[in-house]
Amino acid sequence: MVGSLATRHGKRVAIGPPLRRRLGLRLRVADVDTDVLGTFTGEVPRPGPADEVVVTKARLGMAETGCPVGVASEGSFGPHPALPWCTLQVEHVVLVDDRIGLVLVERATSTASNHGELVTDGVDRDALLRFAREVGLPGHAVTVRPAVPPAGAAYPVVKGIVRVPALLAAVAGAVGASADGRARVAADLRAHHNPRRMAVIAQAAARLAGRLATPCPACGTPGFGVVGTEPGLPCADCRTPTELPAGRILGCARCPHRSTRSAEAPADPRWCPRCNP
Ligand SMILES: [Zn+2]
Ligand SMILES: [Zn+2]
Repeated sequence: MVGSLATRHGKRVAIGPPLRRRLGLRLRVADVDTDVLGTFTGEVPRPGPADEVVVTKARLGMAETGCPVGVASEGSFGPHPALPWCTLQVEHVVLVDDRIGLVLVERATSTASNHGELVTDGVDRDALLRFAREVGLPGHAVTVRPAVPPAGAAYPVVKGIVRVPALLAAVAGAVGASADGRARVAADLRAHHNPRRMAVIAQAAARLAGRLATPCPACGTPGFGVVGTEPGLPCADCRTPTELPAGRILGCARCPHRSTRSAEAPADPRWCPRCNP
């Protein structure tokens, strides 16, 4: 079986192997302009939440290739809900199979991305080079643009910079063009320029493949797996419910069948609101 993979950013190396190994699905790259669904550098805002845009992206690839099966991925970066000073990367990978009416999204997360930016007037070259090293040049790339875009003129974002001379030239150009004389230098988050991001996409793809290898016990559709958790794991000492999950809810991507798998052990009393308030 062949499916389409909508990407211009070389994601087949991360998404292809687990789907081929576990499901025998081969991916054909669909050359669709996924930038119309949003860019990390902000020229195009993403038209909706990542878990919806990823489905739209897969469908673009299916339309381009005529495959009834399509795959795509979409990443997002934002503050971690529990640790607001920390950036949370969430990678979504979807498989759409119109032959059986299946849309299944899986995720993987990381707090170890190189997401970050530096605003500089270009004078402090040491700070600029330190930032480039933290991002991971030359294995990872950076983007450069004016901190304040010049009025009335579209100044292009320079992307995919992996060499220091090119970085210095791009910063000088953006400083000269910016209304405030400063350049904005950021990690290039496109997957083919960001091996750290690509590794998280691979994790999400492996999860998706594992889930698709599990059929629903009720209807046989591929993709039975964890869809939620049940709160209230009881304390080992006093049985008071804690905030830890008491079990995982397994569900089908197509039919309403659900089952729960209880946690194997009760909660450590240090998480108990009564034993350790
Ligand atoms: Zn089912
Ligand atoms: Zn307790």
